[in-house]
Amino acid sequence: MISTNMQEQVKNSSIIRAMFEEGKRLAKIYGAENVYDFSLGNPSVEPPEEVRKAIIEIVNQENAISIHGYMNNSGYEDVRTAIAASINNKFGTDFTHNNIVMTVGAAGGLNVIFKTLLNPQDEVIVFAPFFGEYRSYVKNYEGKLIVVAPNIVDFQPNLAEFKAKITPKTKAVIINSPNNPTGVIYSEETITKLSEILREKQKEFGTEIYIISDEPYRELAYEQAEVPYLTKYYDNTIVGYSFSKSLSLPGERIGYLVIPDQATDHEDIIAAANIATRILGFVNAPSLFQRVIAKCLDAKVDLETYNRNRELLYNELSTYGYGCIKPEGAFYLFVKTPIEDDIEFCNLAKKKNILVVPGTAFSCPGYMRIAYCVAYETIKKSLPGFKALIDEVK
Ligand code: PLP
Repeated sequence: MISTNMQEQVKNSSIIRAMFEEGKRLAKIYGAENVYDFSLGNPSVEPPEEVRKAIIEIVNQENAISIHGYMNNSGYEDVRTAIAASINNKFGTDFTHNNIVMTVGAAGGLNVIFKTLLNPQDEVIVFAPFFGEYRSYVKNYEGKLIVVAPNIVDFQPNLAEFKAKITPKTKAVIINSPNNPTGVIYSEETITKLSEILREKQKEFGTEIYIISDEPYRELAYEQAEVPYLTKYYDNTIVGYSFSKSLSLPGERIGYLVIPDQATDHEDIIAAANIATRILGFVNAPSLFQRVIAKCLDAKVDLETYNRNRELLYNELSTYGYGCIKPEGAFYLFVKTPIEDDIEFCNLAKKKNILVVPGTAFSCPGYMRIAYCVAYETIKKSLPGFKALIDEVK
């Protein structure tokens, strides 16, 4: 019999993944072109040409043993040096390869850092709405997820509630900006105030509270919107980055952690993260793709494709009467469901072959997430369905 822990996980398996499977089922019945699957954040824009070139160059030039072998659990030193230089160049920081640990995507990085930091019953604060997988990642290490209720005015974090929820057991705070599911970028003002609160609370309780900045969408910011680099605002910041969305490589599982020298106990954290990478069974991040991304650190996916989708969907849905705020980043639109029961509304949408994820999955009932990383045509063809849906329930 499977463990009690996993029995629970199987029972509450991801709504998003279930939707994805439902999309495939509907596509078989109605034809893929007649199913509007907005469930999964799977990039729809090709990886930049540099990625293909880098793969070819690497496999043609290097001997296979050196491409595919084991290396230090933190990753290749030259790759980490290149990443540190690239971050320093962009944000005026002063990292070296020592501050970088290569990870198996952002998900791998979050698991490594929670394994590194959490004792049972340690509290991790998160701002709703949030990426639902955080629940499992924190639970994996017997941590306790503490949810700050959504601020539905502009989806910036509710800082008064945040402050009230910090306790001597608070070990970490997850920040995800640009945000999944809202597309909101946390403003510099928010980050400054949040950092001040944390400094104050660290002093009050004599504890260390780490910000874990989960940044898979950093590069997906529209109209040159600024995404503050958090290590510059708060010393105890650890950044989790991923190339899944920025280079459209989610299946390749490649990312990194930044553990700055300014963070308290940084040497221990770096040593522990290295070991956590090994003993969680990742051993190291994929070797070929470490080499690939090192050659693509300045490459970008075509943001304009997502931007066109954003404009079309936001403008049309607003015109039909849906309430949503315009996302500044990522590729999600978070929309108030015209009826209170978001799960019911998403079921109604499914009847029109529109697959969207209820806000409940992100701890924000009464909303739905539309992942617009799909073909422009898919959005266009889905629009009459969205209009009919709101007209029917009004
Ligand atoms: N964090 C957030 C907020 C995400 O949206 C995702 C994926 O969608 C992840 C982490 C996991 O990313 P990765 O594929 O790099 O593990």
